[in-house]
Amino acid sequence: STFQELGLNEDLLNAITDLGFTTPSEVQEKAIPQLLEEDKDLVALAQTGTGKTAAFGFPMLQKINIDSRTTQGLILSPTRELCLQITNELKLYGKYCKGLNVTAIYGGASISEQARSVKRGAQIIVATPGRMKDMISRKMVDISKIQYSVLDEADEMLNMGFYEDITDILSHTPDDKSTWLFSATMPREVATIAKKFMYDPIEITV
Ligand code: AMP
Repeated sequence: STFQELGLNEDLLNAITDLGFTTPSEVQEKAIPQLLEEDKDLVALAQTGTGKTAAFGFPMLQKINIDSRTTQGLILSPTRELCLQITNELKLYGKYCKGLNVTAIYGGASISEQARSVKRGAQIIVATPGRMKDMISRKMVDISKIQYSVLDEADEMLNMGFYEDITDILSHTPDDKSTWLFSATMPREVATIAKKFMYDPIEITV
């Protein structure tokens, strides 16, 4: 299939053309139409390099309200490197989404600078769990209006001991949000988190 057939809007299709993506990857083909069509939870078994960032990034960019400065999308990822990588990808994908603000939040950098960046009106926050939890407790971020949350590389985050932080962070988000979980493997801990935070998820394996 083509990106047009997946239901993506002009702004995203133009960015995709600029990036030189010609064909949707398998995880994109399976996830994007379903995520665009209705607000459902998703569990996807997908490795890095499969195009998973775009699989959750395109639907999130299309579904959030860019005219609003409220934080509507939250992506949790295990490391600072991944956090920055996802942020850069989303900025590329959203280059024609006028007014889009994507902010990265991670440890080892100035917290007040990150707080300022959030305050300027980030519709999407890409964060590592530790720093995110810290900023929530200091009231530097408001995630009470989140509609879409992503747990990226969930197995890695749990391996790194982020279970408590993730639970704490998600407890500050609305119950009616959608949660999209991506993981390379499905150990019991990941299945447990899926069960705890997701309702009747779409399941995808690539
Ligand atoms: P990811 O698995 O999200 O880390 O993506 C791996 C790489 O593939 C990234 O550099 C993306 O920019 C690129 N990519 C994602 N989707 C496509 C696609 N449909 N066609 C070509 N490249 C892609």
